[in-house]
Amino acid sequence: MENSRRRFLKIAGISALGIGAKPVFNALAASGGQGETPEPKTMKGKDVLTSKRWGIVIDTRKFESEGDLEPMIEACHKIHNVPKFENKRHEIKWIWLEEFKHAFPTQEHAFLHERVKHLPFLTLCNHCEKPACVRACPTKATFKREDGIVLMDFHRCIGCRFCMAACPYGSRSFNFRDPRPFIKERNNKFPTRMKGVVEKCNFCAERLAVGQMPACVEASNGAMVAGDLDDPNSKVRELLRSNYTIRRKPALGAGPSVFYIV
Ligand code: SF4
Ligand code: SF4
Repeated sequence: MENSRRRFLKIAGISALGIGAKPVFNALAASGGQGETPEPKTMKGKDVLTSKRWGIVIDTRKFESEGDLEPMIEACHKIHNVPKFENKRHEIKWIWLEEFKHAFPTQEHAFLHERVKHLPFLTLCNHCEKPACVRACPTKATFKREDGIVLMDFHRCIGCRFCMAACPYGSRSFNFRDPRPFIKERNNKFPTRMKGVVEKCNFCAERLAVGQMPACVEASNGAMVAGDLDDPNSKVRELLRSNYTIRRKPALGAGPSVFYIV
């Protein structure tokens, strides 16, 4: 694929997030238009954008207390204008904490390590290989990009919540109320949402587009690593090779792209 077409597709993909094409185009131009790093990257005879499959490895051994997990949630929710509602039923979450027994229900047993039993796990959209949410959406408001990232086009969402019912991980939230008055500190570079719209983690697609890592990864002090699952030389593949990892509800066959070292 020609460079210009690849760049156009990248801009189009980000624009679907509700961010204007012009600022994204400017940012891409400034960064050299690359995804994972600002440096040009090529693979023999393959297009980088289409061959990449983004994934995250979370090394849970590096977290000692619940407090260690808060910075990632804070970083994500702050830059993405995620509102904070007191009423739990209205909660909007892109990345959140879950006990082991809820995050990995089929892998729980009586002899779990104390740390695993008591320390919550960071959970987020798994950017599944076979995303049930995408299949369920009648308007194509949610879609999977060629690089594996599952995105939302907020403008196309009609609030039917079929995607929420289809997602087996509870990764999606619905705006039962206008979220704007409940955003602590608005980030004007990212769109806010409105009542009646579904939202979730976007793998920081807007940051990847300008050569930055996801905000949670950046805030994790090395405990989270994002990279190309298709590249045998990537850091994520190296971590998967050298550690035992688990994924959420693997038997469902969704193919989560988030891995946990336990
Ligand atoms: S975790 Fe849920 S919302 Fe995310 S891609 Fe998979 S099915 Fe879709
Ligand atoms: S990848 Fe980005 S959007 Fe997803 S949980 Fe991490 S910080 Fe939030």
